[in-house]
Amino acid sequence: MKITSIEVIRLNSGHGPVKGNSWFPTVVRVNTDEGISGIGEIGLAYSSAKYGGFGVCRDYGELLIGQNPMENELIWDKLYRETFWALGGGGFAFGGMSAIDIALWDIKGKALGVPVYTLLGGKLNHKLRTYASQLQLDWTVNCRRLTTPEEYAQAALRVKEEGYTALKVNPTMFDQEGKLFGRYTGLLDRKILGMAESRIKAMREAVGDDIDILLELHGMTDIGSAVQICNLLEKYNIFCAEEAITPLSAANLLTLSQKTTIPQATGERIYGRWGFRPYFENQSVRLAQPDLGNCGGITEGKKIADMAKTYDVGIQAHICGGPVATAAALQFEAAIPNFVIHEQHAVTRMPENIALCKYDYQPVNGYYEIPELPGIGQELSEEALKVADIVTIK
Ligand code: MG
Repeated sequence: MKITSIEVIRLNSGHGPVKGNSWFPTVVRVNTDEGISGIGEIGLAYSSAKYGGFGVCRDYGELLIGQNPMENELIWDKLYRETFWALGGGGFAFGGMSAIDIALWDIKGKALGVPVYTLLGGKLNHKLRTYASQLQLDWTVNCRRLTTPEEYAQAALRVKEEGYTALKVNPTMFDQEGKLFGRYTGLLDRKILGMAESRIKAMREAVGDDIDILLELHGMTDIGSAVQICNLLEKYNIFCAEEAITPLSAANLLTLSQKTTIPQATGERIYGRWGFRPYFENQSVRLAQPDLGNCGGITEGKKIADMAKTYDVGIQAHICGGPVATAAALQFEAAIPNFVIHEQHAVTRMPENIALCKYDYQPVNGYYEIPELPGIGQELSEEALKVADIVTIK
């Protein structure tokens, strides 16, 4: 089998979870001389990557014509070694490699007539416990910015009523007026700390003790402010704290992890085995969260998960993208022994995003089933392709 063309497809779903922010799920479709095509999404749908994600997929796509798509390790190594920038890691270089790698696994599954989890060794997890993610955006089919503790409590209750047993929230993403991200480094004053605590307290009191609450901090805090927030919120039984400091320092995360009893989670901005290695070696992270769309794809994600296992570190795939990202993550999480929990971002419930693809995978009573279609089990919708920006490389 040979790769004959690559389409780089920037989907347009109107807007993402935070209105006014960029939101462009970008997918690579790899086509072959046997009529089989595979798709993979780059994990850069959000924030400032509208041109970067699209551009790097174009650059890397040019290197694939004539290659055998079944040789995913060989292609991964080629992209890693021959593109100069990938050797240094980073979200864009590894993002381009990831989208292509996922598309190759999709092709391989379709060619052999099996779901990708079979190719990874089979299912270890038949159902995936799922948490409702980013509750500061509410939990309806349309995201909005929550401000009052009462609104946070209502969103948490809605999650519990739908059968979930876990949720994640950033209690400092929006201030009392709904303004996005203040500056939360250094030592925080009582006003900010009080705002964060009032929201978490309201959620915990609303749902009781049998729901796990994951704390999201989006890397906006540093050691000083993260210690303050973690120590303040420990009494609400926090499952883990995510990106409580910059993702660039395993040493700093170790310092933080020694100053709080809340387990630390990180990984959506860490790339490849080399990026995760210091976090495993110093035992600062308990839940690693590689994004298959930027950690190096399924090929690299499996290696990161296996490496984590030797350090007793659990895995959750980070997901904030279109339905292609969700489909790939479900296949991967089904096949790893150290799976902890699946992330369902609020954006996966928005009609504009569901409409990007043919299949709508949603959890039932807080658990995802694993799709059984060949490959990753997802296809782009005709409607989405009509309004997408597409570049074809032949
Ligand atoms: Mg996060």
